[in-house]
Amino acid sequence: MLLTTGLLTTLLTLPAPPAPSPDPVGVWPLRPQPQVVAAYDPPESAYGAGHRGVDLAGVAGQPVRAAMPGTIGFAGMIAGRPVVVVDHGDTRTTYEPVTTELSRGSEVAAGDPIGALTLPGSHCLPRVCLHWGWLRGDDYLDPLLLVGGGPVRLLPLDGLPPITAGPPSVASWQPLAETWAARRWW
Ligand SMILES: [Zn+2]
Repeated sequence: MLLTTGLLTTLLTLPAPPAPSPDPVGVWPLRPQPQVVAAYDPPESAYGAGHRGVDLAGVAGQPVRAAMPGTIGFAGMIAGRPVVVVDHGDTRTTYEPVTTELSRGSEVAAGDPIGALTLPGSHCLPRVCLHWGWLRGDDYLDPLLLVGGGPVRLLPLDGLPPITAGPPSVASWQPLAETWAARRWW
């Protein structure tokens, strides 16, 4: 009995487990859940090389959805690419290349379509992909944290299966190796 009581006391006095992450919880901007073809790789300086977001495989014309509720903070061209920014107050998420008919100030709920994914401006040419970013002020964050993703296991670049879900009109996944190195970052 003494032993049991002592054990209970020990258990009850163990430190509490860490609190859940305070990060906001969002939804994937593409459905079904997309493959991550390029991970977040923060630059060491403001102008350093890196990848300020993640690239998610998709198809041209696929609806892109707001990861969290907010308002459209920007919709237009940046460096020749159509970009949509959703303002969440403390943070904002960015989506490109995405064309939209929404304009600044439009309110969106998590999962609401905010535009359509396009090929021109893709980080994954000749493939279509969504570059998804998350910022707090000028600091880039890993958007996968919004969907419970930690470090991702990337698929081999040459081993990506064709996307079968999504609009049937586009199914052109082509060899990528020679163009991968020519990807443009921002
Ligand atoms: Zn990218």
